[in-house]
Amino acid sequence: MREVDLIVSNADWLITLDDQRQIYRDGAVAVAGNTIVEVGKSNAILSRYQSKKRVSARRAVVIPGFVDGHLHSSFQMSRGLADEVGSQQFLFERMYPYEAALSADDSYLSSLLCTVNCIRHGVTCFIDPGNYHPEQTVKAIAETGIRAIVAKSSMDIAKSAFGTLPPRFQETTESALATGLQVIKDFHNIHNGRIRASLSFRGVNNCTDELIRSMKQHADESGVLVQAHACFAKETRDASLRQHRLPEIERLHAIGALGPNVLLIHCGWLSPKEVVLLREFDVKVVACASSSMHNAYGNILMGSIPELLEMGVSVSVGSDHACSGIVDLTTEMFVLSTAYKEVRLDPAVMPPEKVLEMATRNGAACALWKDEIGSLEAGKKADIAIFGINNPDWLPLYNPISNLIYAAPGNTARTVIVDGSVIMEEGRVQTVDEEALYKEVLERQEHILEVTGLAKSVLPKWPTA
Ligand SMILES: [Zn+2]
Repeated sequence: MREVDLIVSNADWLITLDDQRQIYRDGAVAVAGNTIVEVGKSNAILSRYQSKKRVSARRAVVIPGFVDGHLHSSFQMSRGLADEVGSQQFLFERMYPYEAALSADDSYLSSLLCTVNCIRHGVTCFIDPGNYHPEQTVKAIAETGIRAIVAKSSMDIAKSAFGTLPPRFQETTESALATGLQVIKDFHNIHNGRIRASLSFRGVNNCTDELIRSMKQHADESGVLVQAHACFAKETRDASLRQHRLPEIERLHAIGALGPNVLLIHCGWLSPKEVVLLREFDVKVVACASSSMHNAYGNILMGSIPELLEMGVSVSVGSDHACSGIVDLTTEMFVLSTAYKEVRLDPAVMPPEKVLEMATRNGAACALWKDEIGSLEAGKKADIAIFGINNPDWLPLYNPISNLIYAAPGNTARTVIVDGSVIMEEGRVQTVDEEALYKEVLERQEHILEVTGLAKSVLPKWPTA
């Protein structure tokens, strides 16, 4: 008998997402340190390994932890602050002023709440597009035990055809690049490699060719991811056409900024030429369905995600932010899948197997982390989500993949393991005092309304006594 550190056993269903897409009934996973040693049937695993710690997955479905391909941890305190607004008003009147008003403490609290929300929904890794207090995001991630990619948000065009940045965001090209690179120096590959850093030219329209080119070059040299929001609304495309006579991705191509280490967020308004460019340069893409639907960006109606997937582009799923409501990758998968069926009048266009691959394997590919996460198999990191099925959302259970995408809410996650550590066990997050956190959030929200000046726009329209 080989001694290991952790065994997850007796899973009713264990979905590996390995190359064969193997599923085990009564499945088990043996973990040594932070690495999976073997995956198989419980009787086989238990006859070969013994462990100090055992996690029962009886009455549960076990999957690789979700990778949220795009999530603004600093926006978690903005839930309800940007309803019924279009893309420009959303960013320039609501979310940029909100973000510019956040103190370091506000950012930390937002990031902490965000990571707890992730853990509670079976998300074990997320890619943050960056903000102006990345050290606070890192602090929250380090404490809660989740895996993530962080960045410092960089933009160097104060006033573009798309809109004008708040003074807090305005930077020279030199400073935008230097502060972005500092985050790589300070935070890349820390905490046993659980936290990585990336570069982020946040919105293509508010970044110069020079900044974009330099960031891509530095990303190539240091082997890190470089990310940007692109083509998320008709207005972003039109602004790019007005400013550069090219749509966003054609412009990135023209300045040599496409490549396999580039992650483009949304890509909802693509020309046929841009679809081909994404494939040709192996660019990574994140689809954020709920944020598009919340603000009517048209990413589903105009979108090409089924075609990109068909062509072999790595497309992941992103919940984007709390200001569009849900931060629940399970519900996000439901929205993405069913919305495409509806607008294409095709019930088979986005099957649940494909969507689950997007939220696991493709998420890992988009994070440039696919050798280590995204599936449950020997040699990969032990990032595992265990969903309890002893509830009416999951029953009856003939096909766990169908139930996971179409029926179960993400908060049926029961136990979550990241890098071999159990960070939520039987519904309790082990690394955070949740009661104290929720109390602090409720206390701090008055201050958020005050500093953002958004009280008038967001409080209930109905008489409140
Ligand atoms: Zn975003």
